[in-house]
Order: sequence, then C-alpha cells, then structure tokens
Amino acid sequence: MKNQQELKGRLGIGEVLRIAGKALQVSFRTKSTMSLFVNLIGFAMAFVPVWISMTLRDFTNHVQQIFQGQETIMTALLVLGLLILLYLMQTSYLFASDYYAEVDRQRTTRYMKKKIIESASSVEYKYIENEGDYRDKLAFAEMSGGSQVAQSMQQSIVILQQVITFVSITLVLLDVSLLIVMILIATCIPAVVLSIKQKDEDYKNKTKSMKDGAMSVHLFYMASGANENCKSMNDVRFFGMYPWIKDKWRDVSMNYLKQKNAVSRKHVVYNSLADILRNGVYIGILLLVAKQIYDNPAIGLGVFMLVSTLAVQLQNATTKVFVGIAQFFGDIRYMKDFFELDATPKEKLEDHPQVLDQADIVFENVSFTYPNSTMQALKNLSITIKQGEKIAIVGENGSGKSTFANLLCGMHQPTSGEVTVGGLNVKNYLASVRNAISVVFQNFGRYETSIKENITFSDRSRKITDEDLEKLTKTTNAFSFIEAQPNGLDETVGTFSEGGNDLSGGQWQKVAITRAMYRDKARIMVLDEPTSALDPVAEAQLYRDFAKITGDKTTILISHRLGITTIVDRILVFADGRIIEEGDHTELLAKGGQYAAMYHAQAQWYGEVVDF
Ligand code: ADP
Ligand code: MG
Repeated sequence: MKNQQELKGRLGIGEVLRIAGKALQVSFRTKSTMSLFVNLIGFAMAFVPVWISMTLRDFTNHVQQIFQGQETIMTALLVLGLLILLYLMQTSYLFASDYYAEVDRQRTTRYMKKKIIESASSVEYKYIENEGDYRDKLAFAEMSGGSQVAQSMQQSIVILQQVITFVSITLVLLDVSLLIVMILIATCIPAVVLSIKQKDEDYKNKTKSMKDGAMSVHLFYMASGANENCKSMNDVRFFGMYPWIKDKWRDVSMNYLKQKNAVSRKHVVYNSLADILRNGVYIGILLLVAKQIYDNPAIGLGVFMLVSTLAVQLQNATTKVFVGIAQFFGDIRYMKDFFELDATPKEKLEDHPQVLDQADIVFENVSFTYPNSTMQALKNLSITIKQGEKIAIVGENGSGKSTFANLLCGMHQPTSGEVTVGGLNVKNYLASVRNAISVVFQNFGRYETSIKENITFSDRSRKITDEDLEKLTKTTNAFSFIEAQPNGLDETVGTFSEGGNDLSGGQWQKVAITRAMYRDKARIMVLDEPTSALDPVAEAQLYRDFAKITGDKTTILISHRLGITTIVDRILVFADGRIIEEGDHTELLAKGGQYAAMYHAQAQWYGEVVDF
C-alpha cells in the first residue's frame, strides 16, 4: 500500500466534489421507488419536531389555563389529539425510513460488489497482477469500503433533512432567545470536531492495520478450511500445524485489536467529555428559561416545554448536520478507491471481431516483464508458427512457457516487440484473436455448476445435443466418470455441491480439456501442462487421442514429458525466457544439446519412449 494511503489523506476540493457527485449519483440510481418516496416524505417530516414542540407548548399553556379556570377542557383535548397524531406520524415514518435505509444499504452494497467484479473481470490483465496497486484497492473497497460508502451515500439525504429540521428549530428558538440558540450551537462544536478527527484516525488505523487484518483472515481460513482457496486442511491436520497457526493468528489479531482498542478507548473518553459539556449546558438553559418564566409569568409555562424539547433537538440536529457532512467528506477517501476501480482502463474488445481462417502466430522480438517484477520473463523472443503446426514447448520451471501462452492469448501485452495472430496485432484485436484460440490454462478454473456447463462455457453460442456432447467426452476420456455420476452430464460438481460430488484433480483436468475442445471454431489450441494431474494411463490415452482432440488446429502443447514430443512437428526448448533450441525430436536428439540431455535424463526414469 506504500505511501498511497498517506496521499489519500489530502484530496483537493475539486476532486472531493467530483467524487461526492458520483457518490450521489450511485445512491440515487440504486434507490427503489418506494424508498425514494419515503425520502420525499422525509423532507416534509423534517418539520415535525418543531411542530411537536410547538403543540406541546400550546398544550401546556391550555392546561395551565384550565387550572386557572380560564378555559374548558375541550380545546386542550383537541390539541392533545393533534399531538398524538404527530407522534404516530413520526414513529411510523421512523420505522419506514429505518427499513428502507437498510434496504438501500443492501442495494448499494450489492451494486458496488457488482461493480467490483465487473471491473475485475474486464480491466486490462496487468491490473490483476496488481499494477497500480489495483488488487490492494480492490480488497480495500471490498472489505471496508462497501458498507461505509453505502451508508454515507444514504447519509447525504438524511443530512439534507436534518438541515431543514435545524433551520426550522433555530427559527422558532430565535423567537425565544438568540443567546440560547448561540450557546446550544456553540457547545456542539467539540462533539463535531471530535467526530471529524476520529473518523480520520479510524481511516488511518484501518489502512495501517490492513495487512494485519488480511493476514489474520488468511490464517483463520488456513486452519478452518472456510475458504476453498486455502487448500491446506490436509497439511494442517497431518503435520500438526494448528499450534503454529494459532500462535501466529493470535499475535497478528491481538496486534490488530490492540491498535483498534487503543483508538476506541481514546474516543470513548473524549466523547463522554463532549457529552457532559452538552448536558451541562442543557440544564443551564432550562434554568435560564425557568427564571424568565418566574420573572414574567405572562409568557406561560408552555415556553419551558418548547425550549426543553427543542434544545435537545437542536443539539442533535446541529451535531448530525455537521458530523454528517464531515463523515460524508471523510468517507470520500473510501469512495475514491471504489471509483478508481471503476475508472481503471478496461481491455478493449472489438465490437465486430474478425473470423480468422488462417491464424499464423508470429512473435517478433518480444520481451516481457510482469508488473511489479524486475526480472524479464521473456527476452527478445522471436518465433513463427504456421497454421496447423503441432508445437511442443519444453523447458525448466520458470523458463517462460506459461508466459508465452499468456501473451499469445492477449492476457498481457509485450513490454517490447509484437505478437500477431493471422496478421492481427494481438493487443489491438483481442476479441478476434481470442475467438481464434482455445486454451487449457495451467491454472484453469473449476466451476461450481453442472459438468455440462463446465464444458460448454468455452462457446456459449454453440448448440449441442447431449449425445454429441457425450461423444466429445469420450474423445477426452472423460465419459466414464461422467457416466458414473448420478445425473451424468447434469451432475453439479464442486465443493458446494450437495451430494458432495467433487471431482478429483485429474477429472477436473479432463473437464478442462473437453472444455477447450468444445470451442471448435478456434483455429489454435493451447494446452499448458494439460496432463499434470492425470494418471499415466489417462496421460497415455490423451496423447494417443491427441490428433482427434486437436484436429486441424494449430496446437501448442506445453509439457514436461519429453517422450510425447514425438507426436508434434516441432519442439521449442525454452530456457530463461528464450528459445534456445528448436527442431523435431530426432533433430534435437542428434544435436546433443539441452533437449537431448533432458531427454536422456528422463528416459532413465521412464525407460524407452512410449510410441503413441
Ligand atoms: P513456466 O511456465 O515456464 O514454468 P512462467 O512463464 O510461469 O514459467 O514464468 C516465467 C518467469 O516469470 C518466472 O521467473 C516467474 O517467476 C515469473 N512469473 C510468472 N508469473 C508471474 C507473475 N504473475 N508475476 C510476476 N512474475 C511472474
Ligand atoms: Mg507454466
């Protein structure tokens, strides 16, 4: 998070207003009609506190007159009726507005979450690698931003209503005494100032301890298995790691809480002092009014009632207005993160992608460095792959094989050099190029839905009968385990699935391969270590059926198994971000270089090469 949080402390007024405007727009857009209606009523209801106090004053005066024998009970009863009506109105309105505030809060939070995933799934991919601290902002907007922003957007309307209440009370009280109004407003200043400062401290504290907070959540997931991404339950159980996790978790979360509590304690003390001041002044004012009535009984007891109720209301309204405004502008720092997500450059996909018949792949002097990394993953790499060629890429871990695939698929753009497919520069024709490619990424996804959907995601426009889909799964040898599912292709799989039918790693991989094959309009197929989770029989089957699976598509197979390289036309040997050797299996063996060395080393373990 670096200095970014500190910078955020100081926003220019122009920027603050711009973000506030956007926030209000969001608030307005996510409101339901009913809630909008309740808000409108709220503006009328903002006058009710004054109305109630004035009615109380009249009622008290009437009662006083009755006691003095100057009036019958009838008028007093009528005023009482009005009073009850006003209270009923106020209570019903409060219920309705609380309810719709909650509804709105949920709607806004949902809207923001939707925007967050929309952004994450459409921004240029480099941001996913945390370029410009994108991921930090995303986590922040998701963790603390969401509800805060939703709340403060709500608040803007409440503030406006409180302003009406504030003005109307002030006008009525001015009639009684200017001094009282001034004292009441002045004594709210400490509470307002404190609230602003505290909001500031909370924000600083939150951003400062964010890493601790995230770490404590991570450790919790690690030990509880509550998050499927932390696949550590086996290790934790088997190696008895609980004590280690527990200690680390305690340290981190205690540290986090200690900071938080220190701030809270300080706030409680100051807020109490501010409250004592306000209450003291309130009592003083009551005494002041009592003395006025004592000196001049003609003004009637009702004034006491009026001032005693309105004084509290004025203090509340003043605090709410100023604290509300301060909070709203304070929350702008949280909102800024959110709107920055929204403003992060998106991938540009052409509206009318071209259909490529010929999809020759050309890498020309391509170098690439991952965002936030200092090491080049690809170094001035050039290669041409003709339509229909079957290529294998081999090389040590970290030699740049997956990076090559990522650049071909337009996930990242070269730092220098160019990648073209079918003559189209990938960075300018993302949609056309991606349409021409099908892929099994090294870290492919597993989706909590039916097997059928897991396969057909790769081409949602294609229609297929269950029979044809079954045929397809036979080609990838996925048929037998799919058939064994109670609902076959329609079986919901994954960790959430009710029957508990999760697939094994190898079975998932077969689904991923079938998914890639299903995208039959593609001209290129990229398979990044597609057999890493398969058993030897399944692996052998895959390579035996390789021609059927890949058809006439250009195929780029990234693999560590050198034996299978006999089924391809050409082998590229990657080392340290470069292609150091290329040729077919026989040529490379004859050359006696890196490939030959790796092959002989493997042959020692696997025996003679299996002939596919
Ligand atoms: P291979 O697939 O050949 O095992 P990769 O292409 O995944 O290797 O990685 C090539 C180099 O790029 C490695 O040095 C690796 O550490 C680095 N690298 C890979 N992915 C990332 C990433 N997301 N961020 C930063 N560096 C990465
Ligand atoms: Mg890889």
